[in-house]
Amino acid sequence: MNLQTRLVIGFLIATCLTGAVATVVGITTINRNTLEEVQRKVQQDINTAELIYGYNLERLRYQLEFISLRSPLEEAIQQNDPATLTGLDCLIRRDTSHNGDHSSLDMLTLVDAGGRVIFRVANPGAKGDNLLWDPVVRKCLTERKPQASAVTMPLRTIVDQNPRLESRVVIPIVKTPQSVELDAKVLLDGMVLRAAHPVFSRSGALLGALIGGVLINRDYDIVDTIKETVYQDETYKDRDIGFATIFLGPVRISTNVKTKDNQRAVGTLVSREVYDRVIIEGKDWVGRAFVVNDWYISAYAPLYDIDRRIIGMFYTGILEAKYRDMTLNTILIFFGITFIGMVIAFVISFRLGHSIIRRIRILKNATQAISSGNLEYQLPPGRSSGFDMLDEAFNDMARSLKDRDDRLQKAFQHITRTERLASLGQMAAGVAHEINNPLGGILLYSNLVLEEMDEDHPGRKNMEKIIYQTDRCKKIVQNLLDFARTPSGDQRPTDINEVILTSLNLVKDQSMFLGIHVETELAHGLPLVMGDLSRLEEVFLNLFINAADAMEGKGTLKITTWLTSTRAVKISIRDSGKGIDRAYLPHIFEPFFTTKDPGQGTGLGLSITYGIIQKHGGFIDVESEAGKGTTFVITLPSCLNEKDETCSEGSSEILGDYGV
Ligand code: ADP
Repeated sequence: MNLQTRLVIGFLIATCLTGAVATVVGITTINRNTLEEVQRKVQQDINTAELIYGYNLERLRYQLEFISLRSPLEEAIQQNDPATLTGLDCLIRRDTSHNGDHSSLDMLTLVDAGGRVIFRVANPGAKGDNLLWDPVVRKCLTERKPQASAVTMPLRTIVDQNPRLESRVVIPIVKTPQSVELDAKVLLDGMVLRAAHPVFSRSGALLGALIGGVLINRDYDIVDTIKETVYQDETYKDRDIGFATIFLGPVRISTNVKTKDNQRAVGTLVSREVYDRVIIEGKDWVGRAFVVNDWYISAYAPLYDIDRRIIGMFYTGILEAKYRDMTLNTILIFFGITFIGMVIAFVISFRLGHSIIRRIRILKNATQAISSGNLEYQLPPGRSSGFDMLDEAFNDMARSLKDRDDRLQKAFQHITRTERLASLGQMAAGVAHEINNPLGGILLYSNLVLEEMDEDHPGRKNMEKIIYQTDRCKKIVQNLLDFARTPSGDQRPTDINEVILTSLNLVKDQSMFLGIHVETELAHGLPLVMGDLSRLEEVFLNLFINAADAMEGKGTLKITTWLTSTRAVKISIRDSGKGIDRAYLPHIFEPFFTTKDPGQGTGLGLSITYGIIQKHGGFIDVESEAGKGTTFVITLPSCLNEKDETCSEGSSEILGDYGV
C-alpha cells in the first residue's frame, strides 16, 4: 500500500470515526434532551388534565348549590311531593350524545335524609329506592356537607337514573396491539361525575340532598377541553399531535385518540405495562407507550373515587412520530455532514499524498543524481511544497559534498604532483650526478686543449663553442641538482616580508619591470618562518620574473601575505598577465616544462621553486585563467617564536589545509 493510499485511508478513518462519534453523541444528547423535555411537558399536561377534571367536579357542585338555592326543595321533601320541581326538567340533557352544553346534567335526584329517592328528574316514575349505596350520597348525608367525586355505576343503576343513557354506557370493547387482556366483550359500567348537596330546613335540620351526575362514557367535554387547553390544535403532518383520555379501569370511555378509520378510540384498552403500573400499583406513568395504533410519549395518572379507590386513569400524550422524525432528520444531517467531511478529507488527503509523493520522487531522483556523481545537482525550489527544511538540508548536503569533492580533487592533484615531481627529482638528481663528472672532464680537457692552441689556430673557434655549450650543460645539470637538493643546513627564523621586499628590490629596476605596477599588502606582525634566506629569495625572484614575462612589460603584480587560522604563513603573488592554459596547469611544476621559445626558458624555474618550498615544509599552488592572470600561493609553516624552532603546520598536514 503506497503512502498516498495510506494517507487517504487514514484521513477517511479519522473523519469517519469523528463523524460516527459526533453522530452518536449528537443523537444521544438531542434524544435525551428532547425526550426529557417532552416527558416534562406531558407530565405537566397530566397535571393540567387533573385540574380540568377537578374544575368540572367543582362546577357540578356549584351547579347543585345554585339549583338548591333557587328551587323549593324543602317543601318537596317535607311534603314528599315533587310536583313543584317539574321545572328542573330542562337541566337534563336531551341529546344522548355530547352536545357541548356545559350546564346540562345527565341525572338529577332528590333524596330525603335517609337516602330515599323523592324525585328523579330524568326518570320521574322511578322513586322510593334508597341511594345510600352511593358513597357520595352517603358521605353528604352523614357529614352534612356538599360532596363531589367520580363514581363507577353499573348499567342498570345508570338507566334507573336516566333511561336515555343506556346507549352511552354500553361500549363494545376493542382489542388493540399490546393491549391488556380482558374477558368482557362489552363495557356495562359507567363512570359518573357525581355531586351531592345537602338540603336543610329553616331551622337547620338535614332534610335530604340534591344529587346530580354527568356520565363520562362518550362525554368528550373534559378530554376535548384538556386537548384544546394543552395542545391548542397543534398538528404534525395533518395529524393532531396531542391527546387526552379518561379510562374506566383499562377501557377508554372518553378520548380524542383516533382509530385508523378516524373514529374516537372509545372501547379500546390500555397496554398491559401501563395497566399494571397505574391501575394495579397506583403509580404515575411517564414515558413511551403504545396507544391504540401508534407510539406516544405519554403520561398516565390514576383516577380515584371518593374513597380513594382507583377506578380509572387520566391520560395525556404526544405523538412520538414528530420526535422520531426529528431524530431521523438529525441522523441524516449528521450523516450528511460526515459524508461531506469524508469527501473533503478524501480530496485533501489525496492531493496531500500526491504532492508528498511527487516531492519524494524529486528527492529520490536528486539522490540518484548525486550518487551517480552529479554533485552540482540542486533541488529546484518547490513552491510551498512543505518540504522547505528537507530541501534546504538536501541542497546543503549536496553543496558540502561538492565542496568536499573539490577539496579532495585538489588534494589528490597535489599528492600526485608531489609524487610525480619527487620521482622526477630523484631521476634528475641521478642523471645530473652521472653527467656532472664527465661534463667536468670535458670542460677541463677542452680548456687544456684551448690553452695549447695558438690564437690563429683554425679549430680555436670550435673549441670555444664546445667549452661554451659544455658550460651551459653544466649549469643545467647544476640546476637539476638544486631541484633535488635538500636545503642547506643554514636555516634560521626568517621574516618572509623582508625576503619578499629584498627580492623585489633586486628586480624592480630591471627593464622588464619598468611598465609594471607593483602592489604589496604585507601583513604586520607575521610570525617568522624557518628558512634558507638565499633559497627563498631564489623562489621569489623566479616567480617575479615569470610574472613579468607573462605581463610582457605592462600590468599589475600584487604580493600579499597573511597568517592563516592554523598559523601558517601564506604568500600570494598575483599578476595580470596572459595566464596559463588549462591543459598546461598540471605540468608547470615539472622540470623542463616550458612554453617559452628554445633558448628563452629552461623549464626549470618552477620545478626548482617547488622543490625549495617543499624542502621548507610548505607547498605551492597555482590558479590561473588564460587571458586574465595567474596567482601563485605559497604556504609556509611558521615558527612559534624566534628561539623555538618548532614550526606550525608542515607539508605533512597538507591535506588539512585542503580541508580534507
Ligand atoms: P621557464 O620560465 O624557463 O619556461 P618555468 O619552470 O619557470 O620555466 O616555467 C614553466 C612554464 O610555466 C613557463 O614556460 C610558462 O609557460 C609558465 N609560467 C610560469 N609562470 C607563469 C606566469 N606567471 N604566467 C604565465 N605562465 C607562467
